[in-house]
Amino acid sequence: MLSLEEARAAILGRIRICGEVEEVSLRQALGRFVAKELCARVDNPAFTNSAMDGYALALADLVAAGFELPLRGESRCGDPPGILTRGTAMRIFTGAPLPDGADAVVIQEDIRLERGKVVFPRTVQPGQNLRRRAEDFHAGDSLYAPGRRLTAYDLALLSSAGVDRIPVYPRARALVVATGDELVAPGTPLKPGQIYESNRLATLLQLEALGVEVVDGGTVPDEPMALRALLKTCAGYDFVITSGGASVGDHDFVRQVFSEIGEIDFWRARIKPGKPLAFGCLGERGHFFALPGNPVSSLVTFKLFVEPAVFAWNHAVPDTMPEFAAKAGNGLKRHPGRTEFVRARLHLDRAGHLIATALRGQGSHQIGTLRDTNGLIKVAEDSAGFEQGDTVIAIPLSLDRL
Ligand code: AMP
Ligand code: MG
Repeated sequence: MLSLEEARAAILGRIRICGEVEEVSLRQALGRFVAKELCARVDNPAFTNSAMDGYALALADLVAAGFELPLRGESRCGDPPGILTRGTAMRIFTGAPLPDGADAVVIQEDIRLERGKVVFPRTVQPGQNLRRRAEDFHAGDSLYAPGRRLTAYDLALLSSAGVDRIPVYPRARALVVATGDELVAPGTPLKPGQIYESNRLATLLQLEALGVEVVDGGTVPDEPMALRALLKTCAGYDFVITSGGASVGDHDFVRQVFSEIGEIDFWRARIKPGKPLAFGCLGERGHFFALPGNPVSSLVTFKLFVEPAVFAWNHAVPDTMPEFAAKAGNGLKRHPGRTEFVRARLHLDRAGHLIATALRGQGSHQIGTLRDTNGLIKVAEDSAGFEQGDTVIAIPLSLDRL
């Protein structure tokens, strides 16, 4: 049996990383992984400009003239930078270029117009209310390294840096299949002994959220013949992911059949929920995951192994499950021996402390518990549990439900 870390290292060590690059527009690049270093094309700000609506001036002139200056000219957004006439102030607006010769802007609320002059306060500081050229970044600065997954904010930044085409890794292609004689799709009435299938949809949608192009391979019965037919459709995929039938029961043929075309490792990794799990390489470029059939085990093993594998394939550091210290909202007793991921409700108390409360119904078939789950408590292999108030490791799954 492998520990969680050993199983994860074994998988990530065998990922054949993507070797191709394609170029997409900013609009198409959301969630994609950068394939080549991206550098700024321009300075930001591109020119020194005003941070406020107000009046531009030269401090030396202001002091010499006793803090009153006649008004001359105007700088508006989109104007080329003008020249400040010596001994005068210029009207200026937020984002408009600072005229040559000026070194400060005073906001309009702080001046008075008297006798045709602008009367300034005596507190003006050199450089105030200016956004200096390139104070954010310089043309040529490296903005993103390969492997970075792009968010909307990243794309806004690249847009302001003048970058319009983004080299990214092509979308990974995945085939997702559920196995099990008992599985039917919702919409069909259940016959005795049947259950509604749910893992395939969860896996498929999570992969799509990672930017993977997914083909729905449907449900395959627990028969070697049917699984061999499935094998024939696996070529050309970067990831083939099955759920169920990976164990060692009399009707669990997945690992056995996939071993006919790939080198498949099978583990009962020391994790809960989660075991059993199989992973291997298929053909020139494919990777194979057999996830456990129990719905919650399937979700947890996806987060623990498949998501990091997709990141690694895209040359990214797979830090996909950030861990935070939290206070246990209740206690939990357990037998040591496996790293456990307890479905939990995370919230901030009035003092702003992160509280993690283990939910009732931790069976790996109990998908109902997921409704209230917004995080996991990670319990170390050798731990016998925790008491209310103890510090535990919390992994947020959806911050918008915090
Ligand atoms: P298995 O891994 O095939 O031994 O399945 C373990 C448990 O998960 C059994 O109770 C199955 O009925 C259930 N199961 C397997 N596949 C799915 C699926 N795709 N959706 C929902 N439940 C499943
Ligand atoms: Mg089964």
